[in-house]
Amino acid sequence: MAYSFVCADTGADCPGSFKSEGKEELFAHLGVHAEHAHPEMVGNAEMAAAIPALIKQV
Ligand SMILES: [Zn+2]
Repeated sequence: MAYSFVCADTGADCPGSFKSEGKEELFAHLGVHAEHAHPEMVGNAEMAAAIPALIKQV
């Protein structure tokens, strides 16, 4: 079981997609990506609350 996240699911115009064996590892990838690609999302509580629902188990 792995976890995947597609950045465009947030409504962002971004080709980013991430897959990881662990949820915490995936969150770490997303954090790094957000800092680089979506600085406006960092610290956005609404976005942070929406992200867990966008993570799919694959
Ligand atoms: Zn992105």
